Amino acid sequence: MHAMVLNSLLSPLAWKELPDRTPGAGEIRVKVAACGVCRTDLHVVDGELPDPQVPIIPGHEIVGRIDAIGTGVEGLRLGQRVGIPWLGHTCGACSYCITQHENLCDRPLFTGYTRDGGFATATIADARFALPLGEAGTDVDVAPLLCAGLIGWRSLVIAGVGRRLGLYGFGAAAHILAQVAAWQNRSVYAFTRPGDVSNQAFARRLGAHWAGGSDEMPPEPLDAAIIFATVGDLVPMALKAVRKGGRVVCAGIHMSDIPSFPYSLLWEERQLVSVANLTRQDGLDFLSLVPKIGIVMKTTPYPLIKANEALADLRAGRFEGAAVLIP
Ligand SMILES: [Zn+2]
Ligand SMILES: [Zn+2]
Repeated sequence: MHAMVLNSLLSPLAWKELPDRTPGAGEIRVKVAACGVCRTDLHVVDGELPDPQVPIIPGHEIVGRIDAIGTGVEGLRLGQRVGIPWLGHTCGACSYCITQHENLCDRPLFTGYTRDGGFATATIADARFALPLGEAGTDVDVAPLLCAGLIGWRSLVIAGVGRRLGLYGFGAAAHILAQVAAWQNRSVYAFTRPGDVSNQAFARRLGAHWAGGSDEMPPEPLDAAIIFATVGDLVPMALKAVRKGGRVVCAGIHMSDIPSFPYSLLWEERQLVSVANLTRQDGLDFLSLVPKIGIVMKTTPYPLIKANEALADLRAGRFEGAAVLIP
């Protein structure tokens, strides 16, 4: 197999030939067809997440087909198309796992961060965490659903049922979620980097009711806001934009420090919460809705060997929607 490997933090990924791996008990091997590039991959490369492990193969939006099955695996078959998301393994025994909060497991493994991921021609996964995908949609279009879509979905559920929804940072996750929210008859208010009029136009094309810079206030108070951008300064901005009792959801795994702000922004029962990881049930819930919603994906494909270019373009905001690597 071949992979783009992170050998040391803050360095480019290196193209490497590795011995083929054999799935152990409870594992499957997946021949990768496409793997999305997520902002979290940048945090992994930059060493911004706790306890970084190198060498590691990043990538946690994996679409592929099972080409080997270890002992004791049930319910999956050779050739089946599956998705391998960020949550790669949980202990099944901690207080979070046994109360349907496996996203908060005390002893988890995360794909592309603490176990090898999908910037590769093949990957080994814990079979219990593989999501059956069916055959609808191309591999490239489905890949970004596995993190951008799933984390967006979990964030949307946690944001509550309010109709006016703000999305801060209009990248891969927001471009999917805007369509989900529109399907739910919500009004989306899209906030981009100040002055990024092309991304604002992109948001409007996807059905956003309003689009503007993150330094602007929406024309009406929002019921909820989800922050996908990694900029802590957006937290007080979003709190200012939501109505009394409104909720601000931080969807990213990493954010720059949040500046101090007057208590009046939180007063009147505004809520500030974060979303961490996903559960397998989130995956099943969201993927069952996708065909009904008819999400139009905007993707920019790159050959696997150009992973560093894809990461650089993501960092610089040089494409609309989501980048996807193809082995
Ligand atoms: Zn656990
Ligand atoms: Zn991700």
